[in-house]
Amino acid sequence: MCKMNEHLEKLEPYYILHQVKEKFGGLRYYTHTPNRTNDRDDLFRVVVSYYETLSFSVCDQCGEPGTRWIKGGYVRTRCRDHSDGADPCEE
Ligand SMILES: [Zn+2]
Repeated sequence: MCKMNEHLEKLEPYYILHQVKEKFGGLRYYTHTPNRTNDRDDLFRVVVSYYETLSFSVCDQCGEPGTRWIKGGYVRTRCRDHSDGADPCEE
């Protein structure tokens, strides 16, 4: 998350991170970039989707490599230490 912000700020210093939502155990970023050009917008989207993909494979508690777990109807990406008694999520 912090890393993504640094990366995006380099790309577009005026970008505004609208909303970060947890969705199906991963993160989804909603951003708005003023003064954008199509080229930069495409690049921006690539970086955002990269981090979205990454968020599906790291623990949301500690950032260690994780897998998806389901508990009480919620899917979370966690390492084994933080799985908190959840069941592994079968794709
Ligand atoms: Zn963890």
